[in-house]
Amino acid sequence: MAILTVDLKKIAHNASLIVKRARQHDVSVYGVTKVLAGPWQVADVMLKSGVTAIADSRLENISKMRQHGISGPYVLLRLPRISEADKVVALTDISLNSELATLEALSQAALRQGVVHKVILMVDLGDLREGVWPTEFLDLVGEVVRLPGIKIYGIGTNLTCYGGVVPDASNMTQLLDLKEQASAIVGHNLEVSAGNSSTLPLLYENKLPRGVTNLRIGEGIILGRETVNRQQLPGAFIDACTISAEVIELKDKPSVPIGTIGQDAFGNVPQFENLGVRRRAILALGRQDTVPEGLLPLIPNAYILGASSDHLIVDVTDSEHLEVGDTLSFTLTYSALLAASTSEYVTKQYI
Ligand SMILES: *Cc1c(COP(=O)(O)O)cnc(C)c1O
Repeated sequence: MAILTVDLKKIAHNASLIVKRARQHDVSVYGVTKVLAGPWQVADVMLKSGVTAIADSRLENISKMRQHGISGPYVLLRLPRISEADKVVALTDISLNSELATLEALSQAALRQGVVHKVILMVDLGDLREGVWPTEFLDLVGEVVRLPGIKIYGIGTNLTCYGGVVPDASNMTQLLDLKEQASAIVGHNLEVSAGNSSTLPLLYENKLPRGVTNLRIGEGIILGRETVNRQQLPGAFIDACTISAEVIELKDKPSVPIGTIGQDAFGNVPQFENLGVRRRAILALGRQDTVPEGLLPLIPNAYILGASSDHLIVDVTDSEHLEVGDTLSFTLTYSALLAASTSEYVTKQYI
């Protein structure tokens, strides 16, 4: 089995680093666990490192973490389904919202359960994923403020997810303006949840405007990178997560296939450069386990040549001596990590 190893000490280190930096700007951090499918071990170290809540996109993950004794608080990142309003209220403390019909369903659920559910209302500042259009935002606030069982806790936005829009002075100022007007309507000061790991460059360059009070951080903590240019955060570990798999064949072969070249297993016509005979390791790792394009070998001078569903071919000619049965380890990009976390073929190990 391929093994995904999550180093909890490194995650704790990254989380503390970001929390400390954020605190200097009066910004709190929600630790986002979704890319790892919500392991309680990671939630636990994030909370011990000072994040103020655990945020995840899926109720299944939050439910699992609760069952393992992690009491939260919890923030639901993906807009709730109306059909799961009762569960949202029962399992989470805060949810992100943009639809009045859903907020009405949450209000009814909160009344039934005799609790107050907090919501962060999302505004779309141009990235075109979730959120109310800015011109309609205050109307929504006016409607939601009347709903019993619901407390408007904050205003939020999410950038750099669909449209690749980068957080900057202009959209952050727009967010803070809307927050001022919304706070006047609700009668108390609102949390400003300004974004995800793509907002970290603003934080680190001391350009995050005063008034932003919260960031929701996954990749920054788990992979040690911001997500505008995917630069390593100063002092952070980028290898807290690694995947390893066993060498099942190790042979010298030519670098160009023999015969007429048609399509590969996925319908592409592959092209090859003739580099002579090379030493190739085949690993028991493939597209059913991860996204091979998102892997980087930890040993120097090893290069991934290609992959199919169950096989990863690595050129190890110029790398260290290997034998069949050895394991190779790789760091992962966000998409490779997401695939590995959610693949039932990959064993998860927390150290
Ligand atoms: C996934 C997600 C985040 C965290 O994103 P990272 O890039 O991993 O920091 C924050 N907010 C929302 C709404 C999300 O869906």
